[in-house]
Amino acid sequence: MVTQVDRQYVVRTLQDLVRINSINPALEAGGPGEAEIAGYVARALEATGLHVTTHEPERGRVSVVGRLEGRAGGRSLMLNAHMDTVGVAGMPEPFSGAVRDGKLFGRGAYDMKGSLAAMLGAAKALADAKAPFKGSLLIAGVADEENASMGTADLIPRYAVNAAIVTEPTHLDVCLAHKGFAWIEVTTEGRAAHGSRPDLGVDANLAMGQVLGRLARLERELRARKPHPLVGPPSLHAGVLRGGSAPSVYAASSTLTIERRMIPGETESQVLREVADLIDELARADTQFRAAHRLTLAREPFEVSRDAEIVQAVARAVEAELGAPARFGGQTPWMDSALLAAAGVETVVIGPTGAGAHAAEEWVDLESVLQLAGVLVRATLEYCG
Ligand SMILES: [Zn+2]
Repeated sequence: MVTQVDRQYVVRTLQDLVRINSINPALEAGGPGEAEIAGYVARALEATGLHVTTHEPERGRVSVVGRLEGRAGGRSLMLNAHMDTVGVAGMPEPFSGAVRDGKLFGRGAYDMKGSLAAMLGAAKALADAKAPFKGSLLIAGVADEENASMGTADLIPRYAVNAAIVTEPTHLDVCLAHKGFAWIEVTTEGRAAHGSRPDLGVDANLAMGQVLGRLARLERELRARKPHPLVGPPSLHAGVLRGGSAPSVYAASSTLTIERRMIPGETESQVLREVADLIDELARADTQFRAAHRLTLAREPFEVSRDAEIVQAVARAVEAELGAPARFGGQTPWMDSALLAAAGVETVVIGPTGAGAHAAEEWVDLESVLQLAGVLVRATLEYCG
């Protein structure tokens, strides 16, 4: 292939990225956010010859977009990686970027600075070859994926692209689907009274117990449903439970936040309806039972057809790069891919091999980062034409 990835550049860039602390401040007080790493990425893209723009959806929360224009008339493709990380509690060497046995260590190495370095390496290879494609390539380093995804959400209306590759780690599998989720808060209402006065008190915690009993039944039922071929069956868990004020007081209220993981095909209104039905049933059976529920956050599931052109372009790129047919699969966590797909952008996910996302020891396999860079170059050349 004429367009070669500069291996040393990719490894050095990844090391630099890992050494920059970019902990998401919404997850950890004092986390610096993306300002410094965005500055680094912007300078790297500019040095490579891309046209760079930065966006700041909130002060200090910065996304970077580099644009490489090919000849006129082709399609536009966005490569997307988040630049923020989770915290580093318990990590012996969070910002070392040390390399041992072909692995590069540190917070974000795997989730997902390895992917960002591969994108920068692919952009450099294509720019050095004078952008031998039609259409345009956008390199997006985004803010805040680990919390509320304000980075990608902010970019979507600004950049109309035909397709996107989200480079979250997948062990170089072509990821065609992931789950979504809904947070549903249920509050049961009681009446506070002295613990010695059952004639006056109504116990909100025991009412919540009834809700939990019904949820346990629903949870078993969900796991028995027909699984999605790539992400399995839907599920729920009772994430946070708070109720009552003191041992000798009848609990006036009790609050539970359920997390319901949705598989492709399920909708927010459908999963809300399941909870509403269960509450209605309890209220019919017990006239003292009072409960309300509301949706506090929802993220849609993601799915793309194996026949989509961006999927085919990536699959062929993987086969050419690895010398073996592409493996297709699904992932369980939610990713920015769902936002892009919901906005009508044909989207697929592929990223490197490694371990320890959000854990005390995190590393990325360097060979897979270099292979990803090669895949991104080939996929761009094919998709952008
Ligand atoms: Zn991630």
